[in-house]
Amino acid sequence: MVKGTPSMGKRQKRSHIKCRRCGSRSFSLHAKYCVACGFGKSKRMRKLYGWKMKKP
Ligand SMILES: [Zn+2]
Repeated sequence: MVKGTPSMGKRQKRSHIKCRRCGSRSFSLHAKYCVACGFGKSKRMRKLYGWKMKKP
């Protein structure tokens, strides 16, 4: 069981790359769409969900 620095070397695969539309590193290479703004899946911006917002 390694949880410290040695295990960091295993992080090679990147499932998300930088999104062209929102600039967030949320463009899924697997699903070919951005999980942050929905780019590639829908033409509209993915609506922000309430649970993502901070409570007032
Ligand atoms: Zn995006």
